[in-house]
Amino acid sequence: MYLRVDRLAIELPQPKEADPNAAAAVQELLGGRFGEMSTLMNYTYQSFNFRGRDKLRPYYDLIANIATEELGHIELVAATINLLLQGSTRPAAPDAAPLSLAKNLRNTHHFIATGQAALVGNSMGAHWNGDYVFSSGNLVLDLLHNFFLENGARLQKIRVYEMTSNPVAREMIGYLLVRGGVHALAYAKALETLTGVNVAKMLPIPNIDNSKFPEARKFESAGLHRKLYRFSPNDYREVAKIWSGPSPAGDGMLEVVDGPPEGGPVPDLAEVPEEFVPGIAPEELQEIARKLASA
Ligand code: MN
Ligand code: MN
Repeated sequence: MYLRVDRLAIELPQPKEADPNAAAAVQELLGGRFGEMSTLMNYTYQSFNFRGRDKLRPYYDLIANIATEELGHIELVAATINLLLQGSTRPAAPDAAPLSLAKNLRNTHHFIATGQAALVGNSMGAHWNGDYVFSSGNLVLDLLHNFFLENGARLQKIRVYEMTSNPVAREMIGYLLVRGGVHALAYAKALETLTGVNVAKMLPIPNIDNSKFPEARKFESAGLHRKLYRFSPNDYREVAKIWSGPSPAGDGMLEVVDGPPEGGPVPDLAEVPEEFVPGIAPEELQEIARKLASA
């Protein structure tokens, strides 16, 4: 089961202006093959399908716990897309064609299908697909896949970073580069304990460290690259059998943190009357409040 905390993993800056084409590019990090939907669903189904968990508890705990962090990552990327889309159009009567701008934007579904909000799809508009989930049941193969997935995700994050200098997008990417580094290292350490192979020696792929990205540097300075959050009140404690020892960066010890990061507020997104979103008129709100109070 899941508990939910109504906070974002980090506080995102408020955008100065709409940037709908950046939102279209960022979709890749949500619903692309190497996006957060994929890391979430790969680890989630691997944890659902894990056989022999009592004998292999630390590995089950690691996959299940990282899966839960990924749930917060789809939330963070969706919030970024929504902030980038905010203010793309102005309210006006329908016959004034208030959405005409969208004809020339990268992703018209942001304006037709969702009312200026995130889609479960990639930067080209294709929907996320369950075929992106690899859950073979073979623990070493699944962990090796997860290591590859985290590194593929890292490469694509870097490329999207290179496409947009938007501060909202870059704050999110900087954070996720650091968290992805934790996950890649965790899977590498898991593989090493199972097989004796030093997978971490392959890190990082590509060989571009977080120091190249000012937004990632900030989170590393706070030590986030050494922390594995334990996303449960009481469970998944055996992650500490894998996530321990010195940080490969040589700047301290790896540590398991009980509970989620403090995070930041979930942005309160403005209404979009020209999209009929949420479609409740101000004069209706009082009446609705009255009905709810008397129910
Ligand atoms: Mn992630
Ligand atoms: Mn990850």
